[in-house]
Amino acid sequence: RNARSSGQRYLFYAPRMNAALAARVALENELQSALEERQFVMYYQPRIDTPSGRIVSAEALIRWQHPVRGLVGPVEFIGLAEETGLIRPIGAWVIDAVCAQQAAWLAAGQPVVPVAINLSAVQCAYAGLFATISDAIERHGLEARHLEFELTETAVMNNPEEAARNLRALKRLGVLLSLDDFGTGYSSLAQLKRFPFDFVKIDRSFIAGLPDDAEDAAIAAAIIAMAHSLHLRVVAEGVETEAQLELLRTLRCDELQGFYFSRPIPAQGFAALLAADSLRPRACGDP
Ligand code: C2E
Ligand code: MG
Ligand code: MG
Ligand code: MG
Repeated sequence: RNARSSGQRYLFYAPRMNAALAARVALENELQSALEERQFVMYYQPRIDTPSGRIVSAEALIRWQHPVRGLVGPVEFIGLAEETGLIRPIGAWVIDAVCAQQAAWLAAGQPVVPVAINLSAVQCAYAGLFATISDAIERHGLEARHLEFELTETAVMNNPEEAARNLRALKRLGVLLSLDDFGTGYSSLAQLKRFPFDFVKIDRSFIAGLPDDAEDAAIAAAIIAMAHSLHLRVVAEGVETEAQLELLRTLRCDELQGFYFSRPIPAQGFAALLAADSLRPRACGDP
């Protein structure tokens, strides 16, 4: 390449690159102060037991209440938080916030279900993860069964040794563990069997095409059958329609999560949903 054309490329890209870099640095600084300014908030999305239709747990999902931009979703900042290492203090805040919320619900005598917390690759390769979690459980007077942790196969396979150590210790403590976004990585369930997961969550990209897409239906059916033969329970993510629900019921998918039931909502709204659900008459044969 000659100097002139590379010079042109430089002139073309430089202002945009600088703008992108400046935005990134600004976001990093803002993320750092967001913790001190208490701008993060947890939303909760219910998970439904397929046979009974009842709420059996919830996933905690972080939001950033930005003073100017309003409510910002995690896809806009979790990646940068991972790259910069900020995910560790943010992740510790998430664990503490969810434990505090569960303790408050227990103290108020409200119904409580296990709440699932997402862990990033950086967190699951961190040797101090187990201590962070067990300290938080103890500090808030919770039991391990009140918490679940979601890890993606990519996060686990990034540092399988440390992840396995953390997951085995967490399993001994008694928390629930799920394999998140299953089907989007490169590992097989058989490979992942050496990690002590309780649940497999089918990624919503395979649910989106249901019930019409025959290939997605075949993939969902195969994941469910394989997971069951390995004694894992299966959760479908991103259930948006009744037709998806019906097919997943036929395929014996154990639990369902998605906008069809509820979007992620603030803690108070979730508590109200759970309270109403626990008052519903139970069908014959319900637990
Ligand atoms: P995820 O763990 O796979 O979470 C599920 C995502 O799917 C959530 O997006 C949820 O709002 C969305 N979702 C649920 N049901 C439906 C549906 O029916 N249709 C559609 N289109 N979407 C649905 P959200 O809240 O934007 O979170 C995105 C990702 O950010 C999460 O994916 C997770 O990987 C990450 N994340 C969220 N909270 C945390 C956190 O506290 N810590 C860490 N490390 N990561 C988090
Ligand atoms: Mg998740
Ligand atoms: Mg997921
Ligand atoms: Mg995801």
